[in-house]
Amino acid sequence: MFININEIRTGDKLEFTLSKDEVDISELEEIAICRFVLAKLKKRVRVKGDVSFKLKLTCVRCLEVITKEFGERVDCIFEPGIPNITEGAQIEITKNDIEKYYYVGDEIDLTPLVRDTILLTIPIKPLCSPDCRGLCPRCGKNLNEGDCECQK
Ligand SMILES: [Zn+2]
Ligand SMILES: [Zn+2]
Repeated sequence: MFININEIRTGDKLEFTLSKDEVDISELEEIAICRFVLAKLKKRVRVKGDVSFKLKLTCVRCLEVITKEFGERVDCIFEPGIPNITEGAQIEITKNDIEKYYYVGDEIDLTPLVRDTILLTIPIKPLCSPDCRGLCPRCGKNLNEGDCECQK
């Protein structure tokens, strides 16, 4: 999703969707709905708003596929230039500040912002519920559906 820097006015509202293939995240269910408000200060563009989406996750304990809804806040600034990734210390200092993205030329690509927002919500060990009982190690039955014969 590209926007042209010259066409941005402060207060502009932007609503668009990105597909699973566009953000390249296999867990995404269908589309991500993005609603942003833009603000422009010279060459810097602030993007605020939210991204709504659903993720298909596999519970690490019972292997059930679950669908979870997310609504994530976004607040970041796009600056012209190329990020200096060698300055590790600087990244550390600005960690709690508004997130920064960089763009080159007249076009801002919002897709990496949406991708990062979605990726940050994906848990390392998804659970269908915090008290998921998992599978029986002996017969493989999903214990959330009831006890198995092994426990008698
Ligand atoms: Zn589970
Ligand atoms: Zn069992």
